[in-house]
Amino acid sequence: MVKPNQEFKEEMALFQEHIKRAGLRRTAQRELILTVFLKTEDHLSSEDLYWLVQKEDPNVGQTTVYRTLKLLTDAGLAREVRLGDGRTYYEHHFDHEHHDHMICTECGEVIEFFSEEIEMLQDQMAEQFGFTPTHHSLRILGLCKVCDRKELKTSSAASGAQPRVRVKTTLN
Ligand SMILES: [Zn+2]
Ligand SMILES: [Zn+2]
Ligand SMILES: [Zn+2]
Repeated sequence: MVKPNQEFKEEMALFQEHIKRAGLRRTAQRELILTVFLKTEDHLSSEDLYWLVQKEDPNVGQTTVYRTLKLLTDAGLAREVRLGDGRTYYEHHFDHEHHDHMICTECGEVIEFFSEEIEMLQDQMAEQFGFTPTHHSLRILGLCKVCDRKELKTSSAASGAQPRVRVKTTLN
């Protein structure tokens, strides 16, 4: 059972501050949503989070979860991530290092990575164009190790005469 308010003191304080600024009330439901979110180190859609919160309190509605996620994003506790399937995911933002993502278009596996060199090159590129970057997200779409191996098997099994067209998840 998740006990709101016992942990994540700093995050909770940030959230309360934001709630106050937005002229909203503190509610136990919002605090529960924040706690469940903070406990989950993953890329969550609003629906994913809704199901996790449901386990703790079936009275929390989907709209409340959605709105609270927006509040968390505005408060700097969550950030939106697009993984290429057209849905919006959320991950921790506060106290989390910047990173970018590789996404498998077959199974949805997400690999987080960070490269100082890539970051530097991006800044240099921006500078060349007189562009001031505020934030960025780099997504590399492709096949993870497991799916890549499967792909190899199926293509060698199909005796190679016809070129096969592969349909990939479209970018948005
Ligand atoms: Zn980056
Ligand atoms: Zn995969
Ligand atoms: Zn991530």
